[in-house]
Amino acid sequence: MPFDIEKVRKDFPCLAQRVSDRPLIYFDSAATAHKPQGVIDEVKEFYEKFTSNVHRGAHHLSEIATSKYHEARAYVAKFLGVDDDAQIIFTRGTTEAINLVAHGLGKIHFRPGDEIILTEMEHHANIVPWYLLAKEKQLVIKVAPVADDGSLDVLAFKALFNEKTKLAAFAHVSNALGTINPVKEMVAFAKDAQVPTLIDGAQGVHHLPIDVQELGTDFYCFSGHKAYGPSGIGVLFAKKPWLDRFPPYQGGGDMIESVAFDHINFAAPPCKFEAGTPNIEGALGLKKALEYIDHIGFAKIHEYEKSLYDYAVHRLNGLKKVNIIGTAKDKVSLLSFTIDGVHPHDVSSIFNHYGIAIRAGHLCAQPLMKRFGVSALSRASFAFYNTYDEIDHFVAAFKRVFEVFKL
Ligand code: PMP
Repeated sequence: MPFDIEKVRKDFPCLAQRVSDRPLIYFDSAATAHKPQGVIDEVKEFYEKFTSNVHRGAHHLSEIATSKYHEARAYVAKFLGVDDDAQIIFTRGTTEAINLVAHGLGKIHFRPGDEIILTEMEHHANIVPWYLLAKEKQLVIKVAPVADDGSLDVLAFKALFNEKTKLAAFAHVSNALGTINPVKEMVAFAKDAQVPTLIDGAQGVHHLPIDVQELGTDFYCFSGHKAYGPSGIGVLFAKKPWLDRFPPYQGGGDMIESVAFDHINFAAPPCKFEAGTPNIEGALGLKKALEYIDHIGFAKIHEYEKSLYDYAVHRLNGLKKVNIIGTAKDKVSLLSFTIDGVHPHDVSSIFNHYGIAIRAGHLCAQPLMKRFGVSALSRASFAFYNTYDEIDHFVAAFKRVFEVFKL
């Protein structure tokens, strides 16, 4: 055990409850992760002691809120390996970050007939904004295929590049398969072809250390709520030249230098892209969440989460009729599966009866469901606050599914 799991679990108060009269077993962290007490306290403290707006008043509380908000941005920059905070934009989440980039690129970058490369394993958040833009600007979307084990066919990805390619956008980690994509290799290839890259880090940033500057990607984004932070806050890293060239995404207060009815000077990035009152407490909570991750350390997180995943696979291997979807060599601790003859929604209802929270459905990845010939999957995602004992209960619940469906 690389760290004191009981101590860690005590830091997450929401885990210590009963569901269906049994201890909650939370295996849905890929949808949203639980929050350590430090994050909860930080948000609470903001309301109790510092409630005020940022960048507005030269009064005591506003000064504190503003400096804490700036510190949060600086911490996110450090966490991502970025040396210039102005390249960190706070958004509502990954979805808004990708929409912001699609908006900006749509205004300055694409011509009709240009091509965007995506992969078959993308979450809808990294498909729909490009689809909308493609319709508006007559762009072509090309899709890199996924192999049977859930890994990306990287050769096929590379073969899609040509002189019309103007963007490659792909997940760091698949939310449905757990596959870790070889983003370093993919970005390097795209850079050689002078094609900008966007990495959807929603499922990556809390599992794997990342240095976006070293990686060389143009854009990287993630959501606070999956990284043990609050909902409604997310991050877009974008290289400065893009932010200088992108027009504003939304207009309003806080993103201007001066306003007249006939002329507006916009603020420099990041403010240029943060119109209106931001999610201040969300940013503060996110900083605490990232501090928590740093405190445990990625090496330990990885070692423990991998051992949980390996243990679950080992325990499930003996069970007939259970099919694990996504068995790539490089994976995070996320286990998607089907049970022959049982709909994933029925599986999750039975699991819920045992206090076990798993996800069921198309996982916002319908093209991937089609690729694997299923309409839905069940997904158990393990975080560093989960235990082997919980996995034993999880495996026992399969037996109950078999009994109910007479398998
Ligand atoms: N991309 C991936 C890979 C995801 O897993 C998710 C959330 N399920 C998103 C994007 C969208 O994140 P959010 O809803 O927080 O904007």
